[in-house]
Amino acid sequence: MIESVEIREPVGLDDYADVVHLAEAVRSLREEATRLLPALRGRKLWMVNSTAQGGGVAEMLPKLVSLLNELGLPTEWVVMGSDEPRFFHLTKQLHNLIHGAGDPGLGDEDQQLYAAVSSANAAELKSRLRPDDILVIHDPQPLGMGALLKRELGLPLFFRCHIGLDEDGPETRAAWGFLRPYAEACDYAIFSAPEYIPDFLAGKAGLINPAIDPLSFKNRELTPHKLAGILKNAGLVRSRHPVVPEDFERQATRLRPDGTFAPMNEETDVGILFRPIVTQISRWDRLKGYAPLLEAFVRLKQGILARDVSDRQRRRLGQVRLVLAGPEPSAVTDDPEAQDVLAELIEGYRRLPHWLQDEVALVSLPMSSRDENALMVNVLQRCSSVVVQNSLREGFGLTVTEAMWKQCGVLGSRACGIRQQIRDDMDGRLIDDCEDADGLAELLQTALDDLPGRMRWGHSAQRRVHDEFLIFTQVRRWLETLHDHLRA
Ligand code: UDP
Repeated sequence: MIESVEIREPVGLDDYADVVHLAEAVRSLREEATRLLPALRGRKLWMVNSTAQGGGVAEMLPKLVSLLNELGLPTEWVVMGSDEPRFFHLTKQLHNLIHGAGDPGLGDEDQQLYAAVSSANAAELKSRLRPDDILVIHDPQPLGMGALLKRELGLPLFFRCHIGLDEDGPETRAAWGFLRPYAEACDYAIFSAPEYIPDFLAGKAGLINPAIDPLSFKNRELTPHKLAGILKNAGLVRSRHPVVPEDFERQATRLRPDGTFAPMNEETDVGILFRPIVTQISRWDRLKGYAPLLEAFVRLKQGILARDVSDRQRRRLGQVRLVLAGPEPSAVTDDPEAQDVLAELIEGYRRLPHWLQDEVALVSLPMSSRDENALMVNVLQRCSSVVVQNSLREGFGLTVTEAMWKQCGVLGSRACGIRQQIRDDMDGRLIDDCEDADGLAELLQTALDDLPGRMRWGHSAQRRVHDEFLIFTQVRRWLETLHDHLRA
């Protein structure tokens, strides 16, 4: 059930150093690595999580792992698994509870299930580990196996928790009560925000910001020619013009009024290159706030005639379309709720009047090729006038970082991870109440009408990501953290 993930990252530190606005960050990372790495000599680092694709953790690990290797710290990424579906239902419940949602009832059976899967995975990984190795457990799914391995082998154990909530409640207490014995076995825990650290870990926990890779398929700059070609290859626009690269093996599909997904044709083409586009791209998760965003967009459209606006604004509001995009739900193995959440959205879409169905594109992005999926996300973000992340809760929200880096006009909820990134009216706008559809409709209109404002936010947002949320800072923080705890 343990699988190694092979990483092929063609872009290395020299490539980043060649880019004028990245060179300084690479230079300072190399300098720090020279100072810190001797204390870690002879050790191997293991990164363990529960899915090789889908979501922010799987997004960050390949680059993190490859840069650590390149700098001289041998690092391997393995994914735990289980053919027991109840396990991922349980860990999804824990995930939701840590975000303050769901049923806090957790019983002995849940403990037994968690312990059994943890121990099966631990038994499998154990033979590959040496006592000097360092184990980093990402999120609660593999935490139990980490604790077991710590007990049996005594190796250093770090818990990198990417989720959290800035409030305490019965839900968070239930989840942390369940996980506490395992989390306490760790030598050190790392969170994305100070508010997320549970009391019992205070004193042995620190922070590392999540980060993006500026040259990845997801974030690299694209010439207009390349961008148009990707849109066509991905099936995101229909065009009669030929392009040299072949179409992607699996293309994006759009929801039809009958509730099924199908490739776009000339009639169902969204008009991405020409119309104002509002986009949210996330996993199909209730906490991502898709439903209130859809409702807000519907109200924006329905209210056009009632609004006191200029002809140009009216045309803009008339033309704007909403794209809600996410991974094909069967692809994300550790997220069993995705199908249900998507089914609810499909129901909401099917209830819309026909003219509004034209204005909303629910798009499923194939995950069979990670690179092609990333390119699809890249072009969708770059073609959007406004990128929304309306999350009720958020660990961090890499989708926000990605859009900020691309200088999009970003509207983000006040979920902790998002307000860490967007300074209101500086790098984008914060949504006061992500479940207030009228308020969000108003904000959408303001943002759509304010091109100079969006450009100003975009410039500031890109600088903020450059300074705080690029992969180089993250790798440096990892080296510092490991060094500080292991040099003895
Ligand atoms: N993502 C993707 N393809 C999709 C939908 C999302 O690659 O079809 C990526 C998205 O670009 C981002 C990550 O999944 O990099 C989501 O990370 P985030 O921190 O926003 O949320 P999480 O899923 O971890 O809760």
